[in-house]
Amino acid sequence: MREILTAGRYFKDKFGEKVYKVPVSLSGFTCPNIDGKVAKGGCSFCENESFSPNLTTKTKRKFYLNPSSITNPLLEQQLLELKAQYNKTKVKLEKKFGAKKFLVYFQSFTNTYAPLSTLKTLYSNALKLDGAIGLSIGTRTDSINEEVLGYLSSLSKDYEIWVEYGIQSVYDKTLETINRGHDVDNMREWIEKTKKHNLQICGHLIFGLPNEDENMMLESVDFVNNLKINSVKIHPMYVTKNTALAQEYKNNKFIPITEKEYSKVVVKAIKMLNPNIMIQRITAGINDNSLLAPSWCRCKHNQINNLKKELLKEDLVY
Ligand code: SF4
Repeated sequence: MREILTAGRYFKDKFGEKVYKVPVSLSGFTCPNIDGKVAKGGCSFCENESFSPNLTTKTKRKFYLNPSSITNPLLEQQLLELKAQYNKTKVKLEKKFGAKKFLVYFQSFTNTYAPLSTLKTLYSNALKLDGAIGLSIGTRTDSINEEVLGYLSSLSKDYEIWVEYGIQSVYDKTLETINRGHDVDNMREWIEKTKKHNLQICGHLIFGLPNEDENMMLESVDFVNNLKINSVKIHPMYVTKNTALAQEYKNNKFIPITEKEYSKVVVKAIKMLNPNIMIQRITAGINDNSLLAPSWCRCKHNQINNLKKELLKEDLVY
């Protein structure tokens, strides 16, 4: 039997106790794949305002940041949101699990797609929050630069700093199909640069993307192993309603992965993955009306239980 290096085990080993991620989502952030710098509409699976039937003129006029924004009129508001969102979740985690240590997780959109001055203010204030021992920053490999990496690297001397990159697929043709807006070379280049700054990297992988077979999905595990990425999150591709992928699905141009196929490829992926790479997630679920398909993605609890059983058959304990 081998215990898989989960986030729980990794952080307990490193800090003597579990460390909890507290997601925050701040006004003003967007993504270069949505605002038109790279593309409009975003990744085909991304639920964003481009696909929202409720989009109003008022929403259209909102201020959004980008790295060349000269001023940030939302900074005060962002700082208030940061504190309020963090404290709300922290209190819940303290009550439920006795949690004491937290990573502030900048989760929604592209969290380095803003001027460095804004990033410095937000990140440094996040690290002053009670119980925060570090940051986890979700972003894209085409939205990072040496200055931001240098700043994060300086923070990493005293704090636990993670950069989360969406990898999704290691096939350019798939990245093009899902309107990702960058290619595999860009990912390789910036992952290597991030490693040179001694930052911890988590890569997001999606299994079940359009036109990908099992071998193609497993090649992303080779990519992670070869680049010595520190951690992964694995997700099944599910379809939510207000997305470009929903149209593909309705037109029978996209067939979602089945639970059996997903379970088979996840077990193979975990067996292939370097055992020193931490696994933060092996599936994802969405239990609300926005889910269009497949229905098995509704219950994450069932999925985890089933995956655990399949992994046990291979002497792997999740
Ligand atoms: S990178 Fe993330 S936020 Fe941007 S379009 Fe893709 S899924 Fe949406």
